[in-house]
Amino acid sequence: NLTSRLGRVLDSIRGQGRLTEDQINAASRELRMALLEADVALPVVKEFVDKIKTRALGVEITQSLTPGQEFLRVVQQELTATLGGVTEPLNLRAQPPAIILMAGLQGSGKTTSTGKLALWLKEQKKKVMVVSCDVYRPAAIEQLRIVAGNVGVDCFPSSVGQNPVDIAQAALAEARKQYADVLIVDTAGRTTVDEEMMKEIAALHAALNPVETLFVVDSMTGQDAAKTARAFADVLPLTGVILTKVDGDARGGAALSVRSVTGKPIKFLGVGEKSDRLEVFHPDRIATRILGQGDMLSLIEETARKVDHDKAKKLAEKLKKNKRFDLEDFREQMLQMQNMGSMQSLIEKLPGAAQIQAQLKNVDTEKQVRRTVAIINSMTAQERRFPDLIKASRKRRIAAGSGVEVQQVNQLLRQFETTRDMMKKVASGGMAKMMRGLAG
Ligand code: GDP
Ligand code: MG
Repeated sequence: NLTSRLGRVLDSIRGQGRLTEDQINAASRELRMALLEADVALPVVKEFVDKIKTRALGVEITQSLTPGQEFLRVVQQELTATLGGVTEPLNLRAQPPAIILMAGLQGSGKTTSTGKLALWLKEQKKKVMVVSCDVYRPAAIEQLRIVAGNVGVDCFPSSVGQNPVDIAQAALAEARKQYADVLIVDTAGRTTVDEEMMKEIAALHAALNPVETLFVVDSMTGQDAAKTARAFADVLPLTGVILTKVDGDARGGAALSVRSVTGKPIKFLGVGEKSDRLEVFHPDRIATRILGQGDMLSLIEETARKVDHDKAKKLAEKLKKNKRFDLEDFREQMLQMQNMGSMQSLIEKLPGAAQIQAQLKNVDTEKQVRRTVAIINSMTAQERRFPDLIKASRKRRIAAGSGVEVQQVNQLLRQFETTRDMMKKVASGGMAKMMRGLAG
């Protein structure tokens, strides 16, 4: 990932004053490679790297950061800015019902996202109606009807062969009659950009005058996402983007391409097939993801908000000094996670989340945490600090002391080791610095 790439090039370089041109050129080459690996479209990479070069030339190296870190900081800032800087909320400022038009290629996730958005709005106490204008595929209409039923919103009926504009207008009339706050209009897509499709969606746009026209795009299409985005942006006045299937693409490059090409804010991320797998888009967090650090910022921010600051700081200090992560720290982490409630959402943000999640599947996490803490509590201080000391006879004693089976003590020790490895990776990835910043 980018952090380690830049690390290799720049960590050895010492010096004060400004980053030298040689340093910047070397780092820019790595940056360029990393962005291409993240599947960012080439013209976007070029433009971005040029911007970074210009900015980095003027950067003073401070006492506390290495040139590599300084460069990385510039990249992180610029990435965030390029991704829009600030979080752009969904705009519903319109005479109700506020109309949201969904545009995008077939298979990009329009229908799924329509359901997700409906649920998200419903949770904010909005009365939502959805309608399918995909009059070419009966399965598509049925799909939306089912999704709407699952999330509990009204679906205006439509059928194959009807005129899309007629359907939309009838749905709008009905939505008005029912005092709906929002009408989401799902549309037909094709497998490639095509004139008919563009004409149809443009006609829908003209007839409905939607307050939001959202371009739905599959992040896994990488470079193609940029091309498709341009084609749609040329024809439709897009107001925002929903980037889908981000769960399958940790690289995040499409976000940068799509945002650069359309100039429109990404408003949501689709992070799974189910209707609740929708996240509001935060530019700074995707920037971090592209830099290859997982969404650690969200994690740390959540941690910093909900846990004891001093303890978080101590842990960060410890990681920074590459001190050993022991069972005391592990217990502390467990207790803090318990404070935070939704452990699931936290785990998802960790690098390597998929494996951990698979491990945790079907496990009652609350109960598990309580048991973990109980087991650690029945160890001696020495055992907690040096877990490698815990051999068979000690395991039996600990198990008896906490009322569990030896097998469960083993399980805990394995879990601890996994976490310890992960913490090592995180610490070497420059995260310690970030944690320190946030915790302080
Ligand atoms: P449409 O043709 O644009 O309406 O696309 P659909 O909504 O029918 O989605 C196409 C496929 O992508 C379906 O199998 C969805 O389950 C899947 N899908 C949509 N959004 C996501 C997402 O955020 N994550 C994942 N993993 N799959 C998604
Ligand atoms: Mg569809």
